[in-house]
Amino acid sequence: MKDNVPYKIYLTEDEMPKAWYNIKADMKEQHDPFLHPGTGKPCVREDMLPIFCGELVDQELNDTDRFIPIPEDIRSFYRMYRPSPVVRAYCLEQKLGTPAKIYYKFEGSNTSGSHKLNSAAAQCYYAKKQGLKGVSTETGAGQWGTALAMACAYFGMELKVYMVKISAEQKPARRAVMETYGASVTPSPSDTTDAGRKILAAHPGTGGSLGCAISEAIEFAVKNEGYRYVLGSVLDHVVLHQSVIGLEAKTALDKYGVYPDVIIGCAGGGSNLGGLMSAYMADKLTGKADPQFIAVEPASCPSLTRGRYAYDFGDTAGVTPFMRMYTIGSGYIPAPNHAGGLRYHGMSPILTKLYHDGYISARAVGQSKVFEAATLFARCEGTLPAPESSHAIHAAIEEAMKCKQTGETKTILFGLSGTGYFDMTAYQQYNSGSMTDYIPTDAELEENFKTLPKIPGVQ
Ligand SMILES: *Cc1c(COP(=O)(O)O)cnc(C)c1O
Repeated sequence: MKDNVPYKIYLTEDEMPKAWYNIKADMKEQHDPFLHPGTGKPCVREDMLPIFCGELVDQELNDTDRFIPIPEDIRSFYRMYRPSPVVRAYCLEQKLGTPAKIYYKFEGSNTSGSHKLNSAAAQCYYAKKQGLKGVSTETGAGQWGTALAMACAYFGMELKVYMVKISAEQKPARRAVMETYGASVTPSPSDTTDAGRKILAAHPGTGGSLGCAISEAIEFAVKNEGYRYVLGSVLDHVVLHQSVIGLEAKTALDKYGVYPDVIIGCAGGGSNLGGLMSAYMADKLTGKADPQFIAVEPASCPSLTRGRYAYDFGDTAGVTPFMRMYTIGSGYIPAPNHAGGLRYHGMSPILTKLYHDGYISARAVGQSKVFEAATLFARCEGTLPAPESSHAIHAAIEEAMKCKQTGETKTILFGLSGTGYFDMTAYQQYNSGSMTDYIPTDAELEENFKTLPKIPGVQ
């Protein structure tokens, strides 16, 4: 039923956040420290400086400042595509016949098509400020690489992208976009790095994985003067930058006196959900409100729902620090028929900790169900959603249908993290009925758990 809330709630540029919110400052307990892969001792700033740029390391290690000012140059960049709207899904509500009120925060209205630009801009800015020449990274579906290519072009930085090979083959248009913005793109695994050659020797013909592309990108950064590596998800500073999503959403909804009961996001590495929930998790952590949070992941890559809470590598070659996270093992390569994104083996340490401590719940969905929800959403709300985001749509519909049964009028907020324009091969598979679900067996997961690192005195 239509009420006093408009279809779209926009903020003015002045209402955009002036500082990022650092959720760690409000967490009762911090996540376990990163451990040095050589010594097994907690990582200190100096350990990370050869890989990451200095200010990002400082943000990574900061668990005391609640707010970190957004530099004016980054705000200027944000103004080109932000604030992003909060949309009331009236048409979806009507279609479902639910008494629930459904809202989504749409992060896909920039050319890169996703929320990733929020952190890309910040990371490029700090790399430039440090006087670096360029950055290197991995990309899976291509959203992160595209976002970074846009940010690098704007700030005048070089960019080297290792793109998961199967994605590069399935999405040639993504590669063309990155190259248009000036990036150099290499499908991974490649024979241009030691890590890539090793993986190719062990798994000839592999379509690659995010973990192995990360290994190649880090090797490139470490071996090339004036380069650092940047990561589009998982790390604390990425969750920090993404807090703009939640801060904007809360400012917008507050205007209409709307407070969500349920907040839902898809979770690959955890950054869009971490960002969307930030301002509301602040209320939960400080006892002001008690909303429910749901992370939705693919059944084919189920780190929160079926993974181990353990120290693992962030990549396949084992060059990143050990991070304690929910993981299905860094050697895990999702089945080749997996088209729905979110293929990372681990999870943000911040989300890991909040999940472990009971602040967040999680569920896993098979990709056919995800595309069913995506198609329903596209047909009534108009926007073509990214497969990743459609995991959140699926859960939002599930929650709304529960309300239909119970008659509850819950308010649901979910993150529509991106658009699906570059995922038409996956949609084609779904439309033609050739999409299949692959769910790993317990035995397969057990095999992967055996690859978790043994760290003396820890695990
Ligand atoms: C990368 C991506 C995700 C997954 O990453 P998170 O860090 O979990 O947010 C989700 N949605 C879209 C559109 C993406 O591009």
